[in-house]
Amino acid sequence: MRPLVWFRSDLRTLDNAALSHAARAADAGAFALFVISPGEWREHDYAPAKVDLILRTLRELSASLAKYNIPLLIRTAPLAKDVPMVVTTVMREHACDALFFNKEYEVNEARRDARVAALCKQQGWSVTACTDQSILEPGDVLTGEGRPFTVFTPFKKAAYRVIESRGGVREWPLPKKQHAMLAQPDLVPGAVAGFASRVDPAHWPAGERDALAQMRHFIEKTITRYKDERDFPGQRGTSMLSPYLAIGAISPRQCVVAAVQANAAFMREKDSPLDSGNPGISHWISEVLWRDLYIHITHSFPRVCKGRAFQPATERIEWNDNPQHFEAWKQGKTGVPIVDAGMRQLLEIGWMHNRVRMVVAMYLTKNLFLDWRLGEKWFMQNLVDGFLASNNGGWQWSASTGTDAAPYFRVFNPISQSQKFDPQGEYIRTYVPELRDIEGDAIHEPWTLPGLLRSRIDYPEPLVNLSASRSRAIEAFRELKSGV
Ligand SMILES: Cc1cc2nc3c(=O)[nH]c(=O)nc-3n(C[C@H](O)[C@H](O)[C@H](O)COP(=O)(O)OP(=O)(O)OC[C@H]3O[C@@H](n4cnc5c(N)ncnc54)[C@H](O)[C@@H]3O)c2cc1C
Repeated sequence: MRPLVWFRSDLRTLDNAALSHAARAADAGAFALFVISPGEWREHDYAPAKVDLILRTLRELSASLAKYNIPLLIRTAPLAKDVPMVVTTVMREHACDALFFNKEYEVNEARRDARVAALCKQQGWSVTACTDQSILEPGDVLTGEGRPFTVFTPFKKAAYRVIESRGGVREWPLPKKQHAMLAQPDLVPGAVAGFASRVDPAHWPAGERDALAQMRHFIEKTITRYKDERDFPGQRGTSMLSPYLAIGAISPRQCVVAAVQANAAFMREKDSPLDSGNPGISHWISEVLWRDLYIHITHSFPRVCKGRAFQPATERIEWNDNPQHFEAWKQGKTGVPIVDAGMRQLLEIGWMHNRVRMVVAMYLTKNLFLDWRLGEKWFMQNLVDGFLASNNGGWQWSASTGTDAAPYFRVFNPISQSQKFDPQGEYIRTYVPELRDIEGDAIHEPWTLPGLLRSRIDYPEPLVNLSASRSRAIEAFRELKSGV
């Protein structure tokens, strides 16, 4: 057999199901392929920073694959519809007779893969689609009635039972080295037209080696404090591994295996290594599992990939139409410091702290009462870790339209969030330089400064009254629930 391993959002050599299976099955050499797909990426709102990270990671991947004598071929498919033909042409050119890839669960990706599989089967080539993106295959964790879970805590309990019944989370074996390299790897382009990133690449070192080093560093130095520090955006209390998980430079299994190993030192007899032991470690494992839940939801409820609300009734909400407010939100000029700091962090480094993602998303959907789909799209267009399942899940959670969502009446007050989670205003000062010199609590609400001081700061007044806008949003949801 001569397999072709088609890489997509799994850009690593370690713990890669498709690569591991293909390299083991090969007896006549193996090839790897990555398809640069600008049309597909545009349709799916890939951020330039994410494309840049992908390209830099591909260079590392190509060098790692070469150590296994597997050349990485790079092809371009201008439009999404061209991808199947590009893949099958490579199969033919290199006399491959088996295609291996790791499954992706979004609607368009699943359709694309079904088309590729059909074309391969017409040629008599075998196709192996592996479970790799999530810890558990969507469909493997179901309620007692055989339905997919939509609420996190029961999902987590059931998922842990499944994992423990299988003897824990395991990584896939290393790929087998091939006898000879059958071709030279292709050069990876430095850029793709239409995706010029303004994010400094130094923020996001590329490649699985760096991703693993970052994970190990987090586990050695920070994870035990995770539960206490994860909500403070001014501190480095989280792993910042999401960009690497999104493109697959690291796998969720590698994360859980490393965390479970670290937890061994804290375990008492009969403890579960997943949800007891050190509270920081078990909390981090459960956050990694949120990603799994959202992947499972994408698979079981494909409407979330089509811009539709998880709770269909919320489709009746008449969101405001206010391009000026949306623009101010995008640029971090709403006049609410914590919101503006988050939106500017997104523009500056292509990433935003989770607590602040929730704050800015609630502010957009509840205070400005703008459609969550606008925010979802802007995030995807700018996030280096843009990942449909988690992004959609996060937005629909914040908008109270989603699964296990924030109840509509529990609207975050961005000022109290700011006071609680950025008490000294360090985060705000980092990203909103015009507020850098404000002392004390006024950093959270600069409109409370005395007139003269206020007039010296070039910073906008709040777009809306927080309390009145909050009440209006709650009322709109209440009317919806009562069917008015
Ligand atoms: C409105 C909104 C949009 C979001 N968009 C994305 C997105 O496009 N891509 C993305 O990866 N995450 C998204 N998230 C989830 C979360 O904010 C990020 O995963 C997290 O901030 C990444 O930081 P970290 O790697 O330091 O996380 P850590 O706290 O170190 O967690 C480890 C990993 O667990 C996963 N994880 C943690 N929290 C969540 C969560 N709430 N939902 C799903 N997975 C989680 C991530 O893969 C993360 O890298 C979004 C959340 C919200 C509220």
